[in-house]
Amino acid sequence: MFKPKAIYFEKDILNYQLGKELFEKYEDVLKIEIDNHNNIEEMRTKQNKEFANMKRNLIIGTRKTHKFIENHKVSDYLVPYTSSGCTASCLYCYLVCNYNKCAYLRLFVNREQMLEKIFKVAKKDFEEKGKKSVFEIGSNSDLILENTITNNLVWTIENFKDNENGRLTFPTKFDMVDPILPLNHKGKVIVRVSVNPEEIINRVEFGTSRLNGRIEAINKLKEAGYEIGILIAPVIFVDNWEKLYLELIQILSEKLTDKVKKSVFFEIIFMTYSYVHTKINEEAFPNAINLYEKDKMTGRGRGKYWYKENIREEGKKFFLENMKKYFPNNEILYIV
Ligand code: SF4
Repeated sequence: MFKPKAIYFEKDILNYQLGKELFEKYEDVLKIEIDNHNNIEEMRTKQNKEFANMKRNLIIGTRKTHKFIENHKVSDYLVPYTSSGCTASCLYCYLVCNYNKCAYLRLFVNREQMLEKIFKVAKKDFEEKGKKSVFEIGSNSDLILENTITNNLVWTIENFKDNENGRLTFPTKFDMVDPILPLNHKGKVIVRVSVNPEEIINRVEFGTSRLNGRIEAINKLKEAGYEIGILIAPVIFVDNWEKLYLELIQILSEKLTDKVKKSVFFEIIFMTYSYVHTKINEEAFPNAINLYEKDKMTGRGRGKYWYKENIREEGKKFFLENMKKYFPNNEILYIV
């Protein structure tokens, strides 16, 4: 169970029920008042080697901007929701950015306001386009993890389930799904569990749930009636990648229940990386694997890298062939 070293908080959070609850829950934890969760001088000026330590703190504020970004994958919109960042430390985390200001876990207590905006957009889309939109509420954090601190996911599902105009979705790398199993979600939630070979989880996805735990979580969620997607992501082309990912697909095929296999869909995403990751990781995790491989990667603009075309093509071919063999009846939404 995560216990913060210190809580940095905006004063305003005490005007919200959740803010008060979190203050009570962590009454014995050091509290430091801040003006704005977006600009904590003390954090901004810390060295990269402090990265993992910084993630032991909790930042609590209110979300001020609520701009939805259109999306065209599982969801129609990426929605800024109740948290941002995470307490885990995946070496490639897409939330890592410059100056250490967006990787630690920030909680936003104005959840009513955020859910209200989802209701409004869902209603508008339904009335104007006759469409039931899907809202991605987990693109800035991991809501299964966040739920262990705030219970926000339970709150969200309970408050969303009667909405007739849309659905919610989120990805996760965690297995603490028990609190959402008994909920009467009415089919309004698509849970997408992200998996990687156990060796990659051990060497790269520090602080996340083990592969077996994630597979068990998928089986339990399906049993509880949730629609399930599996993200094989991010695929990392380490030297023995073919062996590792073949084993992963075989383990999934053996351990997922027939009920899951009947309807699960897949998303397969190749890793992207950046100069910022390289700098933070070499100072914060000096003994970890270096994910930047000069020979296999190429620039993708603004300090970002992705795998070269020939490697991505090889990867696509590998996944298409093996998924066809082990999951012949399941849809792969995309491989990118
Ligand atoms: S679990 Fe997700 S949000 Fe957390 S560090 Fe890993 S990639 Fe980032």
